Amino acid sequence: MQGRYFDIGVNLTHESFENDYKNVIKSAFENSVDRICLTGTSIEDSKKCIEITKKFHGNLISTVGIHPHYADNFDKSSRLMLKKLALNENVKAIGETGLDFNRNFSSKEKQIESFHAHIEIANDLDMPMFLHQRDAHKVFIKCINEIKIKPKAVVHCFTGDISELEEYLNMDLFIGVTGWLCDPVRGKDLEKAIVEIPLSKLMIETDSPYLLPKNLKVKGRRNEPKFLPEIFNKVVSLRSETSEEIQHQIYLNSLNFFNLNE
Ligand SMILES: [Zn+2]
Repeated sequence: MQGRYFDIGVNLTHESFENDYKNVIKSAFENSVDRICLTGTSIEDSKKCIEITKKFHGNLISTVGIHPHYADNFDKSSRLMLKKLALNENVKAIGETGLDFNRNFSSKEKQIESFHAHIEIANDLDMPMFLHQRDAHKVFIKCINEIKIKPKAVVHCFTGDISELEEYLNMDLFIGVTGWLCDPVRGKDLEKAIVEIPLSKLMIETDSPYLLPKNLKVKGRRNEPKFLPEIFNKVVSLRSETSEEIQHQIYLNSLNFFNLNE
């Protein structure tokens, strides 16, 4: 697995990829990003993700879940549907779920209800969780303490400071790092936190098409999985281990996290 990258979070069903998603995946492969996890953000979206993974069997996997932005749509039937979709062989995690009190596109109550339900599903099926948290750290921790997550879980797109990081690590959570790290202004806290993440808990992701690394000058500003090495290089520049060591361990972490074989 030397020289390879695993992008653990790509929103490939985003409209900006509609016309060329196959080429986007091809370019990712050409840039050594050979494993990609698609992020399911609603029932419909999760179904689309599964369909795409079938076209790239072995290299693409998917999560199924309802993003906190859409938690207002969560109900009993979505719980059953998520469970059913999760049984697909290319589905390797439950999410994205969690809390987003930054924009509150859904009510806080529904976000919490949906998050709880996702934890229960993951526990029932013994599947890892893909978690999102923005401006909701305290309640997020409370939710996880109320219903313990039994399988592994990753806090994707971690943008917090060292104290938040410590709480996550104490809860045995994995940390997903995006191009946020490459932002000289917004990434300051994360730059300090990145060295405190045990290498065994670290994974990287582009969160495409969002969060294009700031140092890249790209027409259209669309982020793509092929840019994952930019994030990797930034991680390497801040940590003490060798590039080879970091690359190997992050890839291995990601395979193990999603219960994949090499
Ligand atoms: Zn997210």
